[in-house]
Amino acid sequence: MSAEKLRETLEFYRDLGFTSLYQRAPSEAPVRETVSADSEPVRIELPELAPAGDSLQRIRADIGDCKRCRLHEGRHTIVFGSGDGEARLVFVGEGPGADEDMQGLPFVGRAGQLLTQMIEGTAKREGIPLERKDVYICNVVKCRPPENRTPEPDEMEICGQFLFRQLSVIRPGAICALGATAARALLGRKEGVTRLRGNWYKWRDIPLMVTYHPSYLLRPYNQNAKREAWEDLKKVLHFVYD
Ligand code: SF4
Repeated sequence: MSAEKLRETLEFYRDLGFTSLYQRAPSEAPVRETVSADSEPVRIELPELAPAGDSLQRIRADIGDCKRCRLHEGRHTIVFGSGDGEARLVFVGEGPGADEDMQGLPFVGRAGQLLTQMIEGTAKREGIPLERKDVYICNVVKCRPPENRTPEPDEMEICGQFLFRQLSVIRPGAICALGATAARALLGRKEGVTRLRGNWYKWRDIPLMVTYHPSYLLRPYNQNAKREAWEDLKKVLHFVYD
């Protein structure tokens, strides 16, 4: 690889938020060392990051029957993502829940039905011809965390590389991060959604809006948040489709 190409590649990884890189040993699959709870180094196989000519099919093939993090232990199905692979808008959630884990599709449970309603209802009210199938929807982690707990930082880092590749391949006009975990994975920001929502940020050079995760909006005492989420979505839809 030329020095110029190497510099570009390193800058690309830095923009993606990677602070460490692994080295491919001769005749070996790429590996990365991480530290487990009992501080014993664990070797994890990683695929090449953002390879040339990448595609959603190739990313799915690289994921394979993934066991790169502990979330594989309780999963039923890997939930890769669904929708238009050339979508102008991508929604990123946290991780699959029970329904998603069983069906292998993101956002198909109650929170998913609310998300569909929000996308299609807002689009209709705003005169934008858009259905759920026209956007792309995926999550930070592709396997269901036990008891729907928040993914751990190492799980987000390991699985996040697939999300970054998905976004790099689709290159949408905007990304909508649903909830604090997606905001943290994509922006590296630890503030709560209440502080981040409603404003534009960037993931690499792609505009990104943070809003509430639909599962938060299902709680009866969060009516204000519901109104705010609708406002955020309205902004995103007009930005992308006007
Ligand atoms: S969550 Fe991601 S990295 Fe972890 S096992 Fe599942 S697909 Fe692999």
